[in-house]
Amino acid sequence: MLTVDRTVAWLNDFCDALIEHKATLSEYDRIIGDGDHGNNMARGAEQLKNALLDTSPKTLGEAFKTAAMKWISTVGGASGPLYGTAFMEMAKAAGDATEFDVQPLIKAGVAGIQKRGKAVAGEKTMLDVWIPLSEKFDAAQLAEAFNTTTNMQATKGRASFVGERSIGEVDPGAASSKLLFEALLKDVV
Ligand code: ADP
Ligand code: MG
Ligand code: MG
Repeated sequence: MLTVDRTVAWLNDFCDALIEHKATLSEYDRIIGDGDHGNNMARGAEQLKNALLDTSPKTLGEAFKTAAMKWISTVGGASGPLYGTAFMEMAKAAGDATEFDVQPLIKAGVAGIQKRGKAVAGEKTMLDVWIPLSEKFDAAQLAEAFNTTTNMQATKGRASFVGERSIGEVDPGAASSKLLFEALLKDVV
């Protein structure tokens, strides 16, 4: 169960992890994309950390809406609108609630990512971490989903341009999603 405090702690921890792993995330993206994923995400992270201090959300909906706005307005690339829409759908799902279950929240995020990016499971994107976790949320499922994604061939986004060469390489969006859910595992239980 997420409370408002835990949600804010989760988002903050996600931002800290993105800032800490900025270079690594961009390095993954340099191999199968254009090398900007860590920089894109860290830009949103700096903004969101400040916004959470300024606004102190009173509901889960407010917290996720703040994240959505920052991602959509500052992150750019594919990941800005994709994470932004995920956070927006999570905001809508949680609404005025001050407590909410994790599972339906992740499902709402998946719906947002698919609405925006039109990808399905198995295309080696962030969705290949999100979808399995929307079915079962624990550390083992996260590790399994992340490793499985690495062994896929990309058929969506920039990584699809490198074709078979993407097999065995880490998908940058899957790596940032792993940071998101590691932060949640830490804050929710
Ligand atoms: P860009 O590719 O525009 O430079 P980023 O590098 O910030 O954007 O983000 C790339 C990540 O976005 C990929 O690793 C992948 O996980 C995710 N991604 C790209 N396209 C899609 C899509 N259509 N659906 C879901 N995720 C996607
Ligand atoms: Mg990129
Ligand atoms: Mg780019």
